Amino acid sequence: MNLKSITNNFTKLFPGDFSGNLMQRQTPDVLFSTIEPADFDRTELIYFNEELSIEIGLGKLDNDENFLVAQNLPNNVKTYATAYAGHQFGNWAGQLGDGRAIYAGEIFREDHQTEIQWKGAGATPYSRHADGRAVLRSSIREYLMSEAMFHLGVPTTRALSLSKTGEDVIRDIQYSGNPQKEQGAVVVRTAESFLRFGHFELLSARKQTDLLKQLSDYTIEKFYPEINSENNPNQYIDWFQAICNRTLKMIIDWYRIGFVHGVMNTDNMSILGLTIDYGPYSMMDGYDLEFTPNTTDLPGKRYAFGKQGQISHWNLAALANAIFPLINNSEILEKILDDYGKRFWTEHDKMLADKFGFDEVLPEDERFFTEWQQLMQDLNLDHTLFFQNLEKPASEIKIDDFSNSFYRDLNENELKRLSNFIEKYQERKLKNKISETAALELMSKTNPKFILRNYLLFEAIQEAEKGNYELFFKLKEALQDPYENRFPEFNQKRPSKYDNQTGCSQLSCSS
Ligand code: AMP
Ligand code: MG
Repeated sequence: MNLKSITNNFTKLFPGDFSGNLMQRQTPDVLFSTIEPADFDRTELIYFNEELSIEIGLGKLDNDENFLVAQNLPNNVKTYATAYAGHQFGNWAGQLGDGRAIYAGEIFREDHQTEIQWKGAGATPYSRHADGRAVLRSSIREYLMSEAMFHLGVPTTRALSLSKTGEDVIRDIQYSGNPQKEQGAVVVRTAESFLRFGHFELLSARKQTDLLKQLSDYTIEKFYPEINSENNPNQYIDWFQAICNRTLKMIIDWYRIGFVHGVMNTDNMSILGLTIDYGPYSMMDGYDLEFTPNTTDLPGKRYAFGKQGQISHWNLAALANAIFPLINNSEILEKILDDYGKRFWTEHDKMLADKFGFDEVLPEDERFFTEWQQLMQDLNLDHTLFFQNLEKPASEIKIDDFSNSFYRDLNENELKRLSNFIEKYQERKLKNKISETAALELMSKTNPKFILRNYLLFEAIQEAEKGNYELFFKLKEALQDPYENRFPEFNQKRPSKYDNQTGCSQLSCSS
């Protein structure tokens, strides 16, 4: 690998704590602390994503397996962890930070920057009484889902490798006082930047306005080419608008494919609008606006599927508060946030129109979409399979085909509702100005044929824990072409034996 080209620009630009002290603590005034990764002596590489490595400028693996587990690093790689803060479940949580993510630095290909991090390579000053380790289970989940999102066309961080550390890690998966040994693992992940809303919230809370401005200028200059930063008195306003635009695109994509993040705390919101921090996430099987996979979130269901739009708005408001000292104009920020709320529904309708194969959103579609949502919710139909059943010339759609998307027996009344809706859909589609072929093409690139369902991950993890990676590799194949039906065996509803299985429909944050 091209390890000599890894730079440490971030650590040169911003104030840091270079003591190397690993003690968990508050690090006032600084934005990062240098640290040493843990020692691992029986590591095993499971998979290296060569395509991504070449794309970002790191090249082929050669004999650099050690780098992928943060061992024997070359001198130019200066490892560090950053401090950030955040609102967790709606409450201010103060300093959080990279508790088990460690930065290697940046790599450039032409002028495109990619940051590199290990997840699970050891404790940092921000580990908050935890061990800084990750287990194989959660690392497989992060590896596969971030790559699946990328291939689905959703903005996301990516995964470069999956390795085992050879260490045992103790986790109490269900928080039931029943801790067990799990296998330790490390994922190397990449992103143009891992900066989060929480980094800006931290500096704002500490009243470090100069540093807040410096970090904002850095972010705009490096990652927001759409912002004119020269002699632009509105540059921070334009920037906030651009953050809203990117976040909106990401959230609409989540709704398009049926993704539930599970922990949309502001420390898990990327300032670039990338999906980040794959924990108790889930693809949705049966449609349910109230669905959250996160067992920690069950009482309030703050981060349920149907709330993600609202929550992204809440999180953007928290960010607006954080960068307020740069803007000092609450009216304009409120206006942008108001527009976000309205644009969410406009974009959501456009996205649904694409899924249904409509060339435009007609005034009457609002009712049609509401009726669709109510039908899906009441009948709990499989979100992904439902749209695939529509993906044929409208006159050929058959009600019987939809039984592949039922999670329970439907009564006569419910079947009637479904068939009435299909009839309405057929009538509505006649109003299209584009040809049936063009409509089907639109549907085919909008509606996935492969989604990484939780039960598939669950099975792949069970096998991998026994040393068998066959399903992991097969899923890795399948997720590369999510709009093709290359793996019909995965293009099915969740088998009923998994309905109440922990790890399939419900997940804890333990990772
Ligand atoms: P999250 O669940 O992503 O919102 O994480 C909240 C905070 O806990 C972040 O600062 C994480 O880095 C930290 N964290 C989570 N798990 C661990 C772990 N095993 N060791 C150290 N820090 C952790
Ligand atoms: Mg996090």
